[in-house]
This record gives sequence, structure tokens and C-alpha cells, in this order.
Amino acid sequence: MIVGVDMAKPRVLITAPIHSVAIDILSKHAEVFVNDKILDEDDMIKLVKEIDPMAVIAVRGTDPVTRKVIENNPRLLVVVRHGVGYDKVDVTAATEFGVWVAITPVRELSLAVAEHAIALIMCLVRKICLADKALRDGVWNPELRNVVLLEDKILGVIGLGRIGTEIARKAKGLGMKVVYYDIIRKRDIEEKLGVQYMDLNELLRVSDFVVIAVPLTKETMGLIKEKELRLMKKTAYIINIARGGIIDHESLIKILRENQIAGAALDVFPVEPLPKDDPVLKLEDTVLTPHTAWLAEETKIALARAVAEEVTRVLRCEDPLNPVNPEVKEKARKKCKNIIFS
Ligand code: NAP
Repeated sequence: MIVGVDMAKPRVLITAPIHSVAIDILSKHAEVFVNDKILDEDDMIKLVKEIDPMAVIAVRGTDPVTRKVIENNPRLLVVVRHGVGYDKVDVTAATEFGVWVAITPVRELSLAVAEHAIALIMCLVRKICLADKALRDGVWNPELRNVVLLEDKILGVIGLGRIGTEIARKAKGLGMKVVYYDIIRKRDIEEKLGVQYMDLNELLRVSDFVVIAVPLTKETMGLIKEKELRLMKKTAYIINIARGGIIDHESLIKILRENQIAGAALDVFPVEPLPKDDPVLKLEDTVLTPHTAWLAEETKIALARAVAEEVTRVLRCEDPLNPVNPEVKEKARKKCKNIIFS
């Protein structure tokens, strides 16, 4: 029994600190618990057993909401991702147990990730990080190889969804040509932005910059392996702002060591936090950021508001606005009524 809380109110577990706007909204009708440590599956199971929340807000994309976590949380009604990637949430188990899974695709998130992708591209070609380091090390005339213009270069976007579309829009503004590959051809966006569809291999062959913007799924896990990387030009760069597992990490390191491509920029990694001895940390032609593409004050506020609104709806036994398992509807409504009104 948790002491000092109103046990009559529904409880909400937030897996990491988020903007206070969420707490302001939720604390009007719920007891809110904010975890501040990185969680593995065992920690999550312990937490849900102790708190018995009706809603979990999974803040980090890496927070594991596994079958075991869901099984150990029988009064759970909803898991809301503070973001859009839900590869660490077991949606099948959630649906089986009558639990909604919702995401929060606010525009500010797509804009932040798209701006980050462009910043990474700029960093790669303008060698900002290398030049900065050189100057701080007392070198005024550093030897900076492969500095090129972006004007007229080809950007290949893999996954023309919310983020991919924003990246394409911004790249067009920089004078780049944009080609894309997606599981579904997006003719409306092609027309609106002037971008061209290509199959994946063709995109890899022609692009000067390849940006990964697909979700991590069974189909996209290892989508880019050694064979695909070898299709790229020796002068081309690859940028991943989506999820680590989409590019095979070992293959990427091998290809970079052999100088088969010019470099890479990564915001996401197969294991996060990135292990301190990961070989990618030793490679020169890489720019690395610790899964910070989503960060912006505007994004934090918009996401906090969106997660709180989704939880509030579900705790009223209403459907969330952005469910990823709409098929759970009937089961979830019944479960909600039993739990809330019993
Ligand atoms: P989205 O709107 O769902 O866009 C993803 C696009 O990829 C969609 O057009 C989708 O097509 C397409 N796609 C799905 N499976 C595919 C496949 N097997 N082959 C080719 N295309 C495929 O998602 P988003 O909001 O742009 O976000 C994309 C990903 O970025 C998220 O899933 C998340 O992992 C990552 N992300 C990272 C950060 C960060 O901080 N680094 C922040 C936010 C998001 P359909 O629409 O037909 O499914």
C-alpha cells in the first residue's frame, strides 16, 4: 500500500520526468507518480505492481512495456507513448488484455526531428564538430575533407511519413532534390513538394544523403544491411533519426571503416544508452547525438499536453485520439466501465 495518496483516485505512472503541464492536467483527477530512473523490464514490473496504475505514460522510446509488465498490471487501461515510436510496447499483449496503446503525433515533434536531421546533415558536410574541436585544440587551419554544397544534391528519404515529409520540405528549401521510398507511394505529397518516388535500391544508388524515417517493425529491422550500404556512393552519407535497429550496426561500422561511404550521423542506436565501448564512438566521419532529435521546448509542452489529454479521455472511458490498436475498442470500453465504475 502506498501511503499518503488518495487511493480512490486512478493512478497514473509516468516513466520519466516530463513537462509540468501534464502533471497540472492529470493531478486534477488522478494520483500521478513520476519515475526518475532508467527502467529495465524487471524495474517496470516492480513499479506497476507497487503503483497499480490505470495509465502508464511511457516517456522514453526504450521504456519496456512488455507482455510481463502488462500481465502484472491487471487494472491497466492505457499505455500512452510520449512520442510516436512504439516498438518497445507489446501491442499484441495490450490488445489481448483490453489495454489501449496510444501515441502522440504532435506536429512540434515532427518539426523538431526534421530540424535535427537537417542539422546533422549540415554538421556532416560543413564539418562543424570537427572544425570546432580543431579550433579548441589550437588548430586554425584544420584539414577538412569532403566539404560540399547542399545545393542540387540528392536527398533520399526512406519513409515519407510525418517526419520524412517535414525533412523533405526543409531540404527542398535548401535547394536539394528529394527522392523517397515508402511502403505506400504518396502521390499527393509528390505533387505538393515536388519529390520523386524510387524503389529502395535505386534511392540508395542515386542519393548523396540517405535519411531513415521509417518506424522500427519486423519488416524494417535490419532494412539497411551491408548489401544495401554497398549500393551507396562513396561520397554519400547516411543519417538515422528513426530507430537503431533499422540500420544493421555492425555492417555500418564495417562500411565506414572501409570508407565505402563518406560518413554517418546517428541519433538512435540498437542499444540505448549507447554502450561506452561502442566502436562507432571511435569513427571520425560520424556525428552522434544521444536520441535528442525530438527535443525542443515547444515539443516538450505539446507532448505533455497530448499525453495528459489521452490519459484523461481513457480514464473517462472514452477512446483515445491516436490509438495504434483501434481493434481493442469494445474490450477496452468494457474493462474501463468495470474498473472505473465498480
Ligand atoms: P509515420 O508518420 O508513421 O511515418 C513513417 C513512414 O514510414 C510512413 O509513411 C509509413 O508508411 C512508412 N513505412 C512503414 N513501414 C515501412 C516499410 N516497411 N517500408 C517503407 N516504409 C514504411 O511516423 P513518423 O512520425 O514520421 O516517425 C517515424 C519514426 O521516427 C518513429 O516510428 C520513431 O521510431 C522515430 N522517431 C524518432 C525520434 C527521435 O527523437 N530520434 C522522435 C520521433 C520519432 P504507412 O503510413 O503506410 O505505414
